[in-house]
Amino acid sequence: MRDGFPDFRLGNVLATSFTGTLSERHGNAVERIPTPQRLIDWLVVYGLAVDNCTPAQLDLAVELRESVHAAATAAALQDALPVPALQVINDRSAQGRAAAILTAEGGRRWRLSSASRVEDALSVIATDAIDIIAGERDGKLALCASPTCRAAFFDTSQSRTRRWCDMNTCGNRQKKARFQANQRRSAGTTG
Ligand SMILES: [Zn+2]
Repeated sequence: MRDGFPDFRLGNVLATSFTGTLSERHGNAVERIPTPQRLIDWLVVYGLAVDNCTPAQLDLAVELRESVHAAATAAALQDALPVPALQVINDRSAQGRAAAILTAEGGRRWRLSSASRVEDALSVIATDAIDIIAGERDGKLALCASPTCRAAFFDTSQSRTRRWCDMNTCGNRQKKARFQANQRRSAGTTG
């Protein structure tokens, strides 16, 4: 927790980490970017520092997040992609300006337009979403096996059989629940 706000869950894939800023969507949902400042904080972590963020820009971000979630979920289920979500993703992709920069160490960084607007950062996220949904990167979209989560995640494991969006949270929780159920069962038979 920072200033009483929920921590971020950080993944390796930008677009699905972004959708993960609302977690436990089918349980007790946790909003991890509840204020414009928390969106700024999140963007900094992913190398997308912006100068400021208005409530309207936070709304844009949340709209994009939910659109990416809807489209990625449909892709994981091999359903038709929802048209309104596509529109939002494409608008955000088109309406921001950011350039990929090659660093001396051979890494990639994003340079936002000189104004460093939230819209510029969102365009990078929208582009990332397009890449993974369109199958431009090595991996497969899947849905978390946790019934309270069902987050879309990008499985880059060799076997493409990953079950949880995040082993540290959903994977562990599932294991713990199974363990406790087993404990209860064995307590019931012996006692
Ligand atoms: Zn999960």
